Amino acid sequence: MTRNLVQWLADVDMGDVSSVGGKNASLGEMIRNLNAQGVRVPDGFATTAEAYTAFLEANDLDPRIREQLKGWSSGDRSLEQAGSAIRAMFAEAEFSDELATQIRDAYAELGRRYDTTDVDVAVRSSATAEDLPDASFAGQQDTYLDITGDEDLLRACRDCYASLFTDRAISYRAEQGFDHHDVALSIGVQKMVRSDTAGAGVMFTIDTDSGFPRTMVLNAAWGLGENVVGGEVTPDQYTVFKPFLDDESLTPIIGKVLGAKEKKLVYADSGDDPTENLDTTAEERAAFVLDDAEILQLARWGVVIEQHYERPMDVEWAKDGRSGELFIVQARPETVQSQADAATLSSYSLKETGDLLASGLAVGQAIGAGPVQVVRSADDIETFTDGAVLVTEMTDPDWVPIMRRAAAIVTDRGGRTSHAAIVSRELGVPAVVGTGDGTSRLDDGRDVTVSCVEGDEGHVYDGILEFEREEVDLGDVPEIRTRVMMNIGNPSAAMRWWRLPARGIGLARMEYLINNVIKAHPLALLHFDELTDDDAKREIAELTAGYDDKGAYFVDHLARGLATVAASQHPEPVVVRLSDFKTNEYAGLIGGTQFEPEEENPMLGWRGASRYYSDEYRDAFALECRALRRVRSEMGFTNVIVMVPFCRTPDEADRVLEEMAGNDLRRGEDDLKVYVMAELPSNILQADEFAERFDGFSIGSNDLTQLTLGIGRDDPRLTEQFDERNPSVLRLVSELIETAHAAGKPVGICGQGPSDHPDFAQFLVEKGIDTMSLNPDSVLEVVRRVAETEAAQG
Ligand code: PEP
Ligand code: MG
Repeated sequence: MTRNLVQWLADVDMGDVSSVGGKNASLGEMIRNLNAQGVRVPDGFATTAEAYTAFLEANDLDPRIREQLKGWSSGDRSLEQAGSAIRAMFAEAEFSDELATQIRDAYAELGRRYDTTDVDVAVRSSATAEDLPDASFAGQQDTYLDITGDEDLLRACRDCYASLFTDRAISYRAEQGFDHHDVALSIGVQKMVRSDTAGAGVMFTIDTDSGFPRTMVLNAAWGLGENVVGGEVTPDQYTVFKPFLDDESLTPIIGKVLGAKEKKLVYADSGDDPTENLDTTAEERAAFVLDDAEILQLARWGVVIEQHYERPMDVEWAKDGRSGELFIVQARPETVQSQADAATLSSYSLKETGDLLASGLAVGQAIGAGPVQVVRSADDIETFTDGAVLVTEMTDPDWVPIMRRAAAIVTDRGGRTSHAAIVSRELGVPAVVGTGDGTSRLDDGRDVTVSCVEGDEGHVYDGILEFEREEVDLGDVPEIRTRVMMNIGNPSAAMRWWRLPARGIGLARMEYLINNVIKAHPLALLHFDELTDDDAKREIAELTAGYDDKGAYFVDHLARGLATVAASQHPEPVVVRLSDFKTNEYAGLIGGTQFEPEEENPMLGWRGASRYYSDEYRDAFALECRALRRVRSEMGFTNVIVMVPFCRTPDEADRVLEEMAGNDLRRGEDDLKVYVMAELPSNILQADEFAERFDGFSIGSNDLTQLTLGIGRDDPRLTEQFDERNPSVLRLVSELIETAHAAGKPVGICGQGPSDHPDFAQFLVEKGIDTMSLNPDSVLEVVRRVAETEAAQG
């Protein structure tokens, strides 16, 4: 009787994990079920667990392995000794004729399917205890690439079996409590995707840092995908908003960050090592690996895969350089966010700042502090002290035991989906990856604080800084009538708060985004050639590398930032306020001084609406409009409402609306709503006239208090008297709500008042405010308070 020691991937599915392991079963599952939906997976076959057991038996390996491992656990021999003895046994073992024949036959058949002899294949192990949802075994076993011919294939298969007993695989299983004898190994043999001449990477079908389920993250680098998974390089990163993928007319790519892609892994022409890691060229570094159409195609496949498995997935993809086709080469359940407790939110905040020593990508949403310990190679990991900040070039699975004990992790290389990032998230240890030069800038023993709560960028500060950790309980949040929204400045912070019971963004301050993300003055970008400040010129040239049209740099980054904020609450309304820098703040942007007048009192100067239609700023305003148009029409976020700040008179309102219309942003067209801030007493005293021109109001209690009481909002001597609850301010607020409601227009508030003063929030609810936009960290408390007020109102 012949046994089925080999199975075609197309003949297996998730029901066969015990026979072909999670990885192969998952590939089979996709080939079987998702091919019809266009998901392309390379064909191949797998050896079964039965084949592995038969191999052990035929070579009498089982008792000898047991003996070695027993020797290790009793302390008679070291892990290294036991491991190398076991691997030596595998090296001498022989395949039975039965197994060898079945592998050879399947290999020949695969060649026929691809119209070639000696078809090139990738050989991967798939342990039958691998990829369980609660234990990410990522990268535990070896992979052999570009294998051709029977004999090389059989050799790779034997090496694959032996790789189940690398030192790190043995210690990992011991640590995770898996019995070595319960784990069998299936070998996957799959048609090679020649990504060495193109690119490859990974995608997670949810936001890896916040768990937000409606965006996905893709990473990409040149060459074979191992560099991305292993964190050898800082890859490109693309973020896609999933709900819009069905609409072919939209391009919902809301994030695109060019990675340094320092190396590319290709096949070596000669030598023992089949692959080599080459330095990338300047051109390769400056170019995105995937174009928009490719990003969207992969993202669509990601959604199909996620829907099929009914859970968030971690997917590997590769692009074939010969055909230009994309392939899915692996899919497994995402293990961190999907297991996170959805009912609580840990919230860290930094209470002071220090000198910035290094920065990179922030992973996780926490803060850690301790003395730096630079560990340069895996050989030195024994020296690591608990609670230190691990600083290293990059990590791989050997490092997991010390990563677990670190207060924070800082790596020179790697992206958001690198090994270091994945493991840090899984362990809940904050990490800053891809610092470039952290290992040379951070001295051993120096106390540092690693912060991953200030947006996409993670920071390493000098000294142990004060920070706070709060566990927010999201259970039992009462239902309320008043719409509670959030104020968001930094787009990367928006995703963080998606679990809060807020319904929309009441204020996205565009100037914060310009400051954090764009960094340069819009007029300095538009008039680059006329810049007189050489430093500014150099900095802008660096920021806008790859852009011939520097205005396009502004529009691209602004549009993606706004889209990120819009995505975080879609389909709820997201109110984006046009820029409201003061002249002194604008001057602080790169290249800004040349374009800004020096004003005696910028708070009362050329700010808000007055700039947009002025000859000096008009061209820059057109960039803001272009970005908004893209967000609404090309990306699809029609939930974006535009808001005009600091609009002094109805006449000024007309001029701004006209300027917007000239830039193809017409109120009422494509459902575009335009709100106005109510932050000058004139906005309220003439509210009836403003109501004719706008779709709604949002009270800016900060400026309104300043201008009603004549107290500079930043004046340290007058802070005591600065109070939104002053009777004059309250009267103005009541009057506005009344007038606006009489005109059928909604009124919200987005100033700081209700976040700071629960009694002010209560007053607003009593007066019938429609929406209240709060700082994210005050949402829960205010919601509870509002519930009481509403209950008392009956
Ligand atoms: C306000 O004035 O209350 C407001 C929300 O705007 P900003 O604080 O940005 O001036
Ligand atoms: Mg204001």
